[in-house]
Amino acid sequence: MRNLLAFLFILMLVSCKTEDPNKKFETFKDTFIESYWKMYPERASNAGYHAYDNVLSIPNEDNRKRQLEFSDSLLNELSKHDHNKLSPNNKTDYYIIENRLKGTKWQISEERAFEWNPSVYNIAGDFSKMLSENYDSIDVRLRNFSLRLKYVPAYYEAAKQNIKQPTVAHTNLAIQQNKGGLSVFNTDLIAAINTSGLKDEEKKELEKRAQDAVAAIEDYIKFLTDYKHEEPRTTRLGNDLYAKKFQYNIQSGYNVEQIFQKANDRKQYLHGKMSELADEMWPKYFENNAKPQDSLIKIKMIIDKISLSHAHPDSFQIEIEKQIPELEKFVTEKNLLYLDPSKPLVVRKEPDYMAGVAGASISAPGPYDKGGNTYYNVGSLSGWDKDAAESYLREYNDYMLQILNIHEAIPGHYTQLVYSNQSPSMIKSLFGNGTMIEGWAVYTELMMLENGYGNNSPELWMMYYKWHLRTVCNTILDISVHTKNMSEEEGLKLLTYEAFQETAEAKGKWNRVTVTSVQLCSYFTGFTEIYDLREEMKNKLQDKFDLKTFHEKFLSYGSAPVKFIREMMLAELN
Ligand code: ZN
Ligand code: ZN
Repeated sequence: MRNLLAFLFILMLVSCKTEDPNKKFETFKDTFIESYWKMYPERASNAGYHAYDNVLSIPNEDNRKRQLEFSDSLLNELSKHDHNKLSPNNKTDYYIIENRLKGTKWQISEERAFEWNPSVYNIAGDFSKMLSENYDSIDVRLRNFSLRLKYVPAYYEAAKQNIKQPTVAHTNLAIQQNKGGLSVFNTDLIAAINTSGLKDEEKKELEKRAQDAVAAIEDYIKFLTDYKHEEPRTTRLGNDLYAKKFQYNIQSGYNVEQIFQKANDRKQYLHGKMSELADEMWPKYFENNAKPQDSLIKIKMIIDKISLSHAHPDSFQIEIEKQIPELEKFVTEKNLLYLDPSKPLVVRKEPDYMAGVAGASISAPGPYDKGGNTYYNVGSLSGWDKDAAESYLREYNDYMLQILNIHEAIPGHYTQLVYSNQSPSMIKSLFGNGTMIEGWAVYTELMMLENGYGNNSPELWMMYYKWHLRTVCNTILDISVHTKNMSEEEGLKLLTYEAFQETAEAKGKWNRVTVTSVQLCSYFTGFTEIYDLREEMKNKLQDKFDLKTFHEKFLSYGSAPVKFIREMMLAELN
């Protein structure tokens, strides 16, 4: 008996050792990702995992049933892990996986966009990437392209079956986008075939399948064009769906009403600050001329004057490039956070396939392409029409360009990316929290100015406030349109009169908010959560608070929702 007990005891010890909760969870994560790609082949291709390039999922009832079963079974697997026993990195991965699976169930059973949003059916983007991205030889890519094409007629047949009471706006969007995608299967495909080494019969087969796919897309366009909208659904999401979508997509510690209140308070605050700055700068720009009664008009007049200070079309790129080392120097000298000198940002002229989108953006290698460089793509204005270039340069004037560089590069998106790569997590690279990522970039804009970047120039502060007001008003607009019945007239007035936007920009934003929801809130919500967390930590730590330590600690958790980072930072304090 004693021997048996001793034996059992040893057995327990052994099994405890092999059952290290983190190791067990790592294994689970690997199988989760593998099975996720199998369930969602197009998402796998998009993430740079090309094992399923030859299939396309058919969006029918059977597929939705399988997605629900998949989510339930993985949630069940997940529940076998005790998240309290996991490392911070694994714990946040646990929450991210759980949120994604629950979100999928909600999308299928409650949101049901597959019924009312015809624009969810569009294959052109995924197929286009197979032609333009050089992850494999053109022959291999075209053979998979050909196999995947076989599913297209069934795909659009299922789409037609799904559609019930679609909104007019999403119907029109679907018509426009599917028409726009047709060239992928004509001109783009022909050009790719001509550079390939496919055999004649392979080419013939591919061309035949492409014709069938085009016919299926055209048939779908006709179906939507002829659609009789009796009592069409409204594009406004409504309180209940909006609250849930906000919960799954934003993953904030605040709810919709709290964020709405905070955004309105912030707008008031910014208007007050901008009015003070306008008074301060008035004599410089308008001498003794009388100020208008309306303070928003007064602010707009000053903004218009400051916007005249801008780069020449030919020097636009050079101006952007010149600022990067200055930002690095400032961050280091002011001890704001550590910048890894072995990972400098590679600035490049934007590649041709991105042309037309001037400004600047970060291109980071995907999670399956670890060796790749991270680039800062700087757009060129060459070939732009004179008026368009002038209007663009006024918007991205000398002051705004600096804010843009802070946001996109240092210490914004680029710096965050370097930090997140230090706690490598495939889950966060693939399903990272966009609210945290955008929130960090927006937070750094203010943080840099608070610490004296730009020598407290009133022009720079004014332009920062205008830029920040855009994220604030986007949030107010999104919530108001989807849950508070805001009219187009009210929406445009908010953007032009209260946020100082040009009419063209405001109209574009209005179109966007009618066909999307929630995403426009991510920037301000993330900013607010990070800012509030910093103030909370300051209060708790008093003299012991150190900004650099706070930033580095915050970023060390990777692209996780801020509410979980907060939970772990507070736990570590106690
Ligand atoms: Zn000009
Ligand atoms: Zn951003």
